[in-house]
Amino acid sequence: MAKAYDNFLSQLERALSIKAFPEDLYGLLRSPMKQLEHELDVTMDDGSQQVFEAYRIQHNNWRGPFKGGIRFHPNVDLDEVKTLAAIMSFKTAVAGIPMGGGKGGVTVDPKTLSAGERERLNRAWTNAFRADIGPTVDVPAPDVNTGSADMDVIAEEYGNPAVVTGKSIAKGGSLGRDTATALGGWYVLQKLSERLFLDPETFTVVIQGFGNAGATFADICARHEVKVIGISDSSGAIELADGIDIRALHEHKKVTGSVKNFPGARNITNAELLELECGVLVPAALEGQITTDNAAKIRAKVVLELANGPTTVEADDILFAAGIQVIPDVLANSGGVTVSYFEWDQNMKNEHWPADKVDTMLKDHMEKAAEDVWLRAEENHIDLRKGAFLLALERLQAARRL
Ligand code: NAD
Repeated sequence: MAKAYDNFLSQLERALSIKAFPEDLYGLLRSPMKQLEHELDVTMDDGSQQVFEAYRIQHNNWRGPFKGGIRFHPNVDLDEVKTLAAIMSFKTAVAGIPMGGGKGGVTVDPKTLSAGERERLNRAWTNAFRADIGPTVDVPAPDVNTGSADMDVIAEEYGNPAVVTGKSIAKGGSLGRDTATALGGWYVLQKLSERLFLDPETFTVVIQGFGNAGATFADICARHEVKVIGISDSSGAIELADGIDIRALHEHKKVTGSVKNFPGARNITNAELLELECGVLVPAALEGQITTDNAAKIRAKVVLELANGPTTVEADDILFAAGIQVIPDVLANSGGVTVSYFEWDQNMKNEHWPADKVDTMLKDHMEKAAEDVWLRAEENHIDLRKGAFLLALERLQAARRL
């Protein structure tokens, strides 16, 4: 993953060259403010002790408490968490929420843990990082392979619900958090559709990934009668030019465990899926999917990055030159962290907001962020990712001066 951090540094350097920023800004943002590493000693069900590597990277807090998820994965390492933490500082700035950027992780295959072992791991994580997290200091959230049950344990062990977001509703979670990432992306797309020359009534969609972000985005398309003509998951991909019945696909996946072999659809490879002609291509699975190897073959008008880091810097240039607009991850998927901020705000004020209030506020935030990014890009004749980074740098620099 060293490559991922290099990718972030390239994006940072490019954005800093667009206009004059103080010379020391690069040095201050190129590395995190604090890197924390602990070994978690956890008692397993058989009575043995197992040690897990755990990280919390606090990239920047000029705009507010560090904010970002905790990932459980066997491949988690310092470089990966560092990259994700840095991106969070830019995402919260683009979203215009008063939060900074951070990320945590544990090198573990969560499938190997029993429920009790997982709970003890979460309690050990909380106690190891207790001195460095807190509602006004650093507010973690779920990420890959973690969810509301993990956050509930952390909140309980820490002794304050506002220390984490993404909790279950009963434990202080916010309504609307589970659909926020996809819905935020949808609001951005709607806001920019005219400028992107997308007819909101007739454009077609291809989605890579049928998990939280991808499947929710597919549901939203179905609700608005927008045709989804291709979908994939880790087992393969399908294409159906007439449009996939999303509700039926959920059923099919429940029964067969995969999107493949969906009645009426053609099985294709994941590589073919990315190259389908469509209005909007939505990477919603993994990083590094659009690279110099396939960028020239992309036939979408717009790429909406619900996944983090699906497009490399070099691929960005190829797409821009071809007139394909990429709505970057720091804007497209920032609905998730935006509603996380709403959850934190409710916890701090001891309030519970109704779903329609959360939805209205999310829409307002996303539309404002989309407009701000678009204007930066238009004024400077740059792509939307550079526009988003430029906007974030302006906001980071302004907060630093204060
Ligand atoms: P998830 O685990 O719920 O879903 C991931 C999906 O990707 C699954 O359907 C899986 O089968 C599929 N997948 C895995 N490997 C694949 C492959 N090789 N080809 C095609 N599909 C593959 O995860 P998620 O929460 O939906 O997150 C997806 C992406 O969105 C990640 O990059 C994540 O960081 C980003 N994201 C998610 C949120 C959120 O709130 N869920 C917020 C911001 C960013």
